[in-house]
Amino acid sequence: MFVEPNFGKSPSETPLASGWVEVICGSMFSGKTEELIRRLTRASIAKQRVEIFKPAVDTRYDKSDIVSHNNNSIRSTPVGFAQDILLLAENSEVIGIDEAQFFDDQIVDVAVKLANKGKRVILAGLDMDFQGKPFEPMPSLMAIAEFVTKVHAVCMSCGAVANYSFRLHDSDKKVVLGEKDAYEARCRKCFVKGQKMKECTTA
Ligand code: ADP
Ligand code: MG
Repeated sequence: MFVEPNFGKSPSETPLASGWVEVICGSMFSGKTEELIRRLTRASIAKQRVEIFKPAVDTRYDKSDIVSHNNNSIRSTPVGFAQDILLLAENSEVIGIDEAQFFDDQIVDVAVKLANKGKRVILAGLDMDFQGKPFEPMPSLMAIAEFVTKVHAVCMSCGAVANYSFRLHDSDKKVVLGEKDAYEARCRKCFVKGQKMKECTTA
């Protein structure tokens, strides 16, 4: 389990003596949002000023709240562009960002700027798309982060450890919003098997 390097102090008072970036990544249903909410709740309990953002395009479960698949929720601000977060987070010490893969590339620069200002920045997002390809800007965020946590789901086909998001319907679009009706978590073996079956049916 990730243990905060801040010992209950605000980022500027920590042993790191500055801000930092944390990334939580994994497939769909792997517990990214749950883990983000856990870290932000603990920061709130420590009386740190917390602000949470999500991309405005993600309206799946709620317009403003961030909701996990086990129905945990936390109030958030939907934003259109990554740069908006710079202004909106000016007075916060801890900044949570969910569904980071849906932000524009500027999110990397924004995370760096916030951390350089002494803030703790926690970003959660999908590290791979429905084809099992790296999902930018997540790989870049992982590169600039001090701490990266990969969480795992359970394979819906065989029960093994899953790190792929398998799209159940046929569509070539990179972004198709949806959850249990559209995607399932799969292990490598079952993901590859599913992709091969799709190839056979479209050939
Ligand atoms: P993420 O943000 O990574 O999509 P969430 O944090 O919203 O995931 O939800 C995690 C929760 O989803 C788990 O605690 C569990 O209750 C539920 N869940 C549903 N399907 C699965 C699965 N295949 N593997 C693991 N958890 C699942
Ligand atoms: Mg989530």
